[in-house]
Amino acid sequence: MLAGCLAVAALAGCTGAPPDPDRPRPGQVDVGDPYVPGHGNGGYDVAAYRLRVRYDPADDRLTGHATVTATADAVLSRFNLDLAGLTVTAVRVDGTPARHARDGRELVVTPARGLARGARFAVDVEYAGVPTPVESELGVGGFLATPDGAVALGQPDSAATWFPVNDHPSDKATYDVEVTVPDGLAALSNGVPAGRSSSGGWTTWRWAERAPMASYLCTLVIGDYRVTTSTHAGKPMVTAVAVGLPADGPAATSIARTGEIADFLADRFGPYPFDSYGGIALADGRISYALETQSRPVYGPGFFLAGPNTEVVAHELAHQWFGDSVSLDRWGDIWLNEGFATYAEWLWTEHGGGRTAQRTFELRHAATDWSRPSVDPGRADMFGAAVYQRGALAVHALRRTVGDEVFFRTLRTWTAERRGGNATTADFVALAERVSGRRLGAFFDAWLVGGTAPAPP
Ligand SMILES: [Zn+2]
Repeated sequence: MLAGCLAVAALAGCTGAPPDPDRPRPGQVDVGDPYVPGHGNGGYDVAAYRLRVRYDPADDRLTGHATVTATADAVLSRFNLDLAGLTVTAVRVDGTPARHARDGRELVVTPARGLARGARFAVDVEYAGVPTPVESELGVGGFLATPDGAVALGQPDSAATWFPVNDHPSDKATYDVEVTVPDGLAALSNGVPAGRSSSGGWTTWRWAERAPMASYLCTLVIGDYRVTTSTHAGKPMVTAVAVGLPADGPAATSIARTGEIADFLADRFGPYPFDSYGGIALADGRISYALETQSRPVYGPGFFLAGPNTEVVAHELAHQWFGDSVSLDRWGDIWLNEGFATYAEWLWTEHGGGRTAQRTFELRHAATDWSRPSVDPGRADMFGAAVYQRGALAVHALRRTVGDEVFFRTLRTWTAERRGGNATTADFVALAERVSGRRLGAFFDAWLVGGTAPAPP
């Protein structure tokens, strides 16, 4: 994610990640992540979501049918999904009607028969209503109606506003998304385009994301868009620019460089991790941020007001490795996403003949408030400068300390070994020590959480 301006504040941190909590218990109504109380659920692990939604901008009404395929972690007599607003009309578990109740943003499902530990099961949820957007530190998110359609976007809040979900990045899954909209509108989501068909004045757009995806990275963009489909490096590339933006304006020309920038990053971070590429440029100024939605980042219009901006594209594309393919396990580790994405901006700027990464490091080092930690910054500061800039300072300091060869080999090993999974700060520290053959605990303590400026290496 990249916001127009960053809030800053402090909270004491500890080195590495907080100890990995036990997996949530069956029936537990969240995963115990203090940044997002109520998010996620215990008792099961989702493998796949199949979402079939219909949206009519005329009355803002969403009708959905979600099929959630999961494996029980334990014997389950009931379980929860996250769903904010909307009305559930039917729930089936393995085809049999199940009892269901709502408790705030929890959908409580009681199957006719209990589920055995290890059982693979499918939950069908039929639901409808007018979705409600949510406010978070980023600004407005979730499912937001726009003049010509809608956008579903946000971090960490988004998915539960439009489908029933185990809404925490620690439970990644594949997604098939079918979106039915009035003829003439585009309906974009993540992954590979999987066909389109029209009937009775409605068009269904189908998308398939086959790599595991965190729920907040699932997006939906509906409206009047210029959609361009091409091939890059043998994979589909789908970009979309709102018709409210000029066809050859700065947003369009910036996201047109997606393939080139992804290749630049792949040379440094390892192979591009997904089956498709893309980007979506919005015209609605209420979206004041850009988000690394998997394989197809979404960009608010504010990034392109002053002209082309490929730094934001580099930032969101870097997240495809750092955040999307390798996802955090707890939001307190968000520097693992934002520190590397910010560092990718520094690398891209240097590549384009601008300020060198070393010079950016020197300037940022002098300007940083070292009382604020990168690790566990607190929910209110999860998008703060300590996460982005101090995180990137730590990344560059690691490079200076271990040398370019070991540094880039560490990044490529990380993206290869953790591809499609989740990881913690402690995991990254351990890997950096393994690849470099050096003890780096004190180094990371100083750069990520220490209260005074470390000497530049
Ligand atoms: Zn970011």
